[in-house]
Amino acid sequence: MSLTLKAGDLTIHRIIEQETTFLPAQELFPDLTGEVLAENRAALKAAKALDDSDTLILCFQSYIVKTPHHTILIDSCIGNDKPRPTRPKWNMKTDDTYMRGLKGAGIAVEDIDYVMCTHLHVDHVGWNTRLENGKWVPTFPKARYVFAKGEYDYWAGQHEKAEVPPFGDSVLPVVAANKAEIVGNDFAIGDHVRILPTPGHTPGHVAFTLGRAKEDAVFCGDLMHSPLQLRYPELSPKFDVDPAQAAKTRRSFLERYCETDTLCCTAHFPSPSAGKIRRKGNGFSCEMV
Ligand SMILES: [Zn+2]
Repeated sequence: MSLTLKAGDLTIHRIIEQETTFLPAQELFPDLTGEVLAENRAALKAAKALDDSDTLILCFQSYIVKTPHHTILIDSCIGNDKPRPTRPKWNMKTDDTYMRGLKGAGIAVEDIDYVMCTHLHVDHVGWNTRLENGKWVPTFPKARYVFAKGEYDYWAGQHEKAEVPPFGDSVLPVVAANKAEIVGNDFAIGDHVRILPTPGHTPGHVAFTLGRAKEDAVFCGDLMHSPLQLRYPELSPKFDVDPAQAAKTRRSFLERYCETDTLCCTAHFPSPSAGKIRRKGNGFSCEMV
């Protein structure tokens, strides 16, 4: 399996930290009936998106995009040494899979010019920081870290009410180190990188569209978690803060890219995780690359 993709003048590397069973399909999607699951079981299993016990398989990864001008890391995954007691596979882990992945792509932490987070959930901010002498420091020393203002403000408010560990150990230390850019939705980098607001999963969730003057690739974060949501865009996972808004955003996103040449890079679909959106009945499919 190639971990490198091409789109226009972009080179895209996938850095996989884990590809593994996550939650039973009907737990992640409370509205998924046994009947619909049965109808889609074979296709999901063929796509390696479901195991024999109806548990969904998800990929946890970062995308690193080289434009002609910058090296941009999108969503920094799970991270090491972080207390995540409710998720044993993520809790206080110390493996070198992620750093080996970077190395395999020929990328050093110093090479990253921007880190951009689609949203501030635990599996999208983890490698923003690493533990050094008991302190959280930015993992990518030369990078500016881009957080959408709506998303940042939402989590800052939540963190004030009750500690949100990933915000405390993976976002605030970046701000304290003066590496953060908290930006509006009109933010852009040159003529290659733009923001597309995609609220619902979290209030300030955004996608990033990349490509010179056109959208060669879009990075959609947790706008969707499983290929099942292509066929049923209204299926919202239990983690969507506003499931109704997320469903609406999902369908309009899929309509926007349907039958276009834009490469859609999902955060969590099983490998190869990226493809082009096509119409299928009342829903969609993804022509995987
Ligand atoms: Zn996620």
